[in-house]
This record gives sequence, C-alpha cells and structure tokens, in this order.
Amino acid sequence: MDTVTRIPMTIGGATVASDEVIEVVNPATEAVWAEAPAASKSSVDNAFTAAAEAAPSWGRDETARRKAVAAVADVMTRNIDELADLLTAEAGKTVSDSKLEIQGAAAWFSYFADLDVPWRESIDPGRVTGVRRPLGVVAAITPWNFPLALAAWKLAPALRAGNTVVLKPSPYTPMATLRLGQLLQDVFPAGVLNVVSGGDEVGVAMTVHPLTAKVSFTGSVEAGKAVAAAVAPDLKRLTLELGGNDPAIVLGDADVAATAEGLFAGGFYHNGQVCGAVKRVYVPERLYGPLAAELARIADSKVVGDTRDSSTQLGPVQNVNQYERVRGLLSDALKDGAQVAAGGQRVGERGYFLRPTILTDAHAGQAIVDEEQFGPVLPLIPYVDLADAIRQANDTHFGLGASVWGPNRDQLEEVALEIESGTVYFNGHALNYGPHVPFGGRKWSGIGSENGLDGLKSFTHLQVLYGDVAV
Ligand code: NAD
Repeated sequence: MDTVTRIPMTIGGATVASDEVIEVVNPATEAVWAEAPAASKSSVDNAFTAAAEAAPSWGRDETARRKAVAAVADVMTRNIDELADLLTAEAGKTVSDSKLEIQGAAAWFSYFADLDVPWRESIDPGRVTGVRRPLGVVAAITPWNFPLALAAWKLAPALRAGNTVVLKPSPYTPMATLRLGQLLQDVFPAGVLNVVSGGDEVGVAMTVHPLTAKVSFTGSVEAGKAVAAAVAPDLKRLTLELGGNDPAIVLGDADVAATAEGLFAGGFYHNGQVCGAVKRVYVPERLYGPLAAELARIADSKVVGDTRDSSTQLGPVQNVNQYERVRGLLSDALKDGAQVAAGGQRVGERGYFLRPTILTDAHAGQAIVDEEQFGPVLPLIPYVDLADAIRQANDTHFGLGASVWGPNRDQLEEVALEIESGTVYFNGHALNYGPHVPFGGRKWSGIGSENGLDGLKSFTHLQVLYGDVAV
C-alpha cells in the first residue's frame, strides 16, 4: 500500500502538482514519508503572473484584507491537529512544540489583522500627504526550523499591507506549508497567496523573477548573500533574517541555578535549531564549575526520543546534513581539548538523535564557538575580565541576539549597550517573541527587521502627494 503523503502547490487559487518531486524525510525515523512537488520554471512563472494579476484589486480593498488575514488565524486554529502532525513528521518537533508553533503563527495573523495602520499621514498639513502603498508581489522564502511561524511573520504583514505573495518553504519541510496553502484557497481571492515548493533553485528563480517587487528571506548567511546579489540588478526591495551565533554573558553575581535553567531553555529549545538560540556562553571563572555542573544536570534529565510520545522533551536534529555537521563540530572541539560535561552520544539506531550536550573548556578558535552550530551542543567559555568577554562576544560577523545574566538591571543594560546585536535579553534568551516586537540582526545576521508596525511598513512604500490634499 502506498502510504506516502503528497500535497500539491497552490497557484492562482488552484491546486497544482508537478511531474518532478522532492522526497521528504522524517528525521525521527529516516523514512521518506512524503513527496512535495518540485516546481518547474513554468509553475514559478504562473505563480508570479497570478500574484501580479491579483495585486491591484487586493491592494485597494482594505476591508477584505483585514477580514481574510483574521480568517487565517481561524483556519490554523481549526486545523491545528492536522498541521501539527505534518510539522512533527517533517521538522522533528514534539507534537506539543508543533502546536505551539501553529498557535504562535495564528497569533501573528490576528495581530496584523487588528493592527491600526496609519495608511495616510499628514506631512505638511494641507499641503503634503504621505500614503502607504503596497509594493506588489512579494517572494517569501523560509527555512526548515519554524516553517509555519516564519511564514506567518512574512505573510501576515505583507498581505495586510496589500501585497500578494509567492511563498516557498524549505525542501526539508514543505508539507505543513503546502497544506496551509490548500486550506487558504477559499480565504483569499485567487492569486493573492501562492505556495510553491522545490529546492534552492526555486528560491533562486523567485529572487530573480521580473515580477518580484520584494524578497523577504529567512535562512542562512550564505544563501542570504546570494539573495542580496540576485536582487541587486533589479534593485528589488529586500529583508534578510539570517543566522546568528548569539553569545550569553554571565556576570559574576548571577544566580547559578536560575541562570542554568534559563540558558538551557534558550540554548536547547528545538535542539538549538533556532536562529536566536544561545550558541556560546561566557562564564566568569568563579562560577564556571558550578554552572557547568548545573547545566549538565539539567541536560542529563531531559527525555530525548519519539516525537509522538508526550513524555519526550527533545526530538531529533532536523536533517542528516545538519546532524553530521553538528557531530563534526563536536568531534573537532573534543580533539582540540574541549570536554563533554553532559551528552555527546547518539540516541538509538535510527533517527538523527543527539543527547543535549554541554561542552566545557571551549574557546575562540574552535569552530563550535566561532560558527553557528544550530544544534544541541552548547560551548561554555571561561573568562577573567568582563571587558574581554564582551570583546569576544562581538568578535564575529554575526549580530542577531545576545543575553546578559545577573541581578543588577543597570549593569545588565551597561553590558547590553556594548554588544553589537539586534536584540539583547536579560536573564533569559529568545524569550517569547511577540508580533508587536521588532526582530532583526546587525552585521551578517540580517538587513531590516520584521514584526510590528515597522515590519508592516517594510512591505510598503510611502508615496508623497503634494497639493491641497485633505488627510
Ligand atoms: P538555507 O539558507 O539553506 O535555506 C533557507 C531557504 O532558502 C530554503 O527555502 C532554501 O530552499 C532557500 N534558498 C537556499 N538558497 C537560496 C538562494 N540562493 N536563493 C533563494 N533561496 C534560496 O537555510 P536553512 O538551512 O533552511 O535554515 C537555517 C538557517 O536559517 C540558519 O542559519 C538560521 O540561523 C537561519 N534562520 C534565521 C532566522 C532569523 O529570523 N534571523 C530564523 C530562522 C532561521
């Protein structure tokens, strides 16, 4: 019996299959459980043509936009079980984490549906008026770690602002996004939201397509740079949300138990496969032993395994390449003198499982410290001098997030303002993101930011009208 799941694309309001497919692997079992269409060049063209044709009327009807964007939240909520099953099978999340992601995505749509947008603003009363206009067709490209949530970060503001969208999920995790596209076929007029799937080459075709007005891209630094180069000849608008190598700086008077709890949560949620996860921890020498021991205790207490079992806390690494990469970074660090305080081993015979790993005696110069590991291994780096820890934290091309840990708010802020990152958290890391809170990176971690009114404005241009125009 053929049990492979297949879900078609959504183009111009209709379902579209493809002769070519990409296989989707369940990282918990290593089995191919689904096939997604590999969009042909003509499918990509059709999606952009449909989006361009739908754009003028969609851009004019603010009432319809508000209603449809709100309806997405309802559709996601009503279909949460089915979407969570797909997400769990493709992304390796526990079922409860998949549901959390879907609830979060729904909250983004509700927020942007309700947002009071100043479409018109008086710049010079009676003489100059600014009007927020949509850009046109947005190419939205997402990675594999939060397929639905990161799609929501793009779709909700782009659609509410009056743009139409062609969305492409990662080839590792296309299924939940394809299903969402199908579920929304009755919510949006044909062509307003198109969902195509395929490999990186489909993403490339979207970034260079002549009908693309803006690319909203979330993914790796390497691909982000390629996207920036691809859009340059046509000066398309661009938002990039890229990788991070977030440092956590623990101050000398931090509470060891609470800090360890918070660091573990911020470093190992979804196995550390979070752009804004803690990826390296700077610890004063006096606290180094106790903090490492407490983190190791927490790591050893976690249940790793079957994502469908409600007692499981951590599932597998999402794909085999990532799994091999993280294990390679770990083994290189061990050869260079780092020590495993907890974890380090594979779990079971099948699936890309790795126990949450605390690495001590780590230092700059090891790839696990200098690069983005994006997996369940957290290096602890001892420091003597706080200024030197801050220097090391900044000695990177990344600049997404950072955190500072200690009891004194003034001192936390003093350190925070020295750190070159888009976000700094106090006594936590990657804390409950909200649709109203701007999120973006400095340096190679990104260009622009998402969320909130500013995020929505990045999907518009301000047209300036001169003359005696009433606001
Ligand atoms: P990736 O860059 O390999 O792929 C992301 C998406 O881009 C996929 O859909 C892929 O098919 C597509 N793509 C790849 N090359 C492309 C190209 N040249 N042109 C157009 N599209 C292309 O990233 P990934 O491995 O899927 O995701 C992990 C990375 O994403 C990590 O570095 C992580 O930190 C980053 N990330 C960043 C954020 C953020 O908000 N800053 C959020 C989540 C993930």
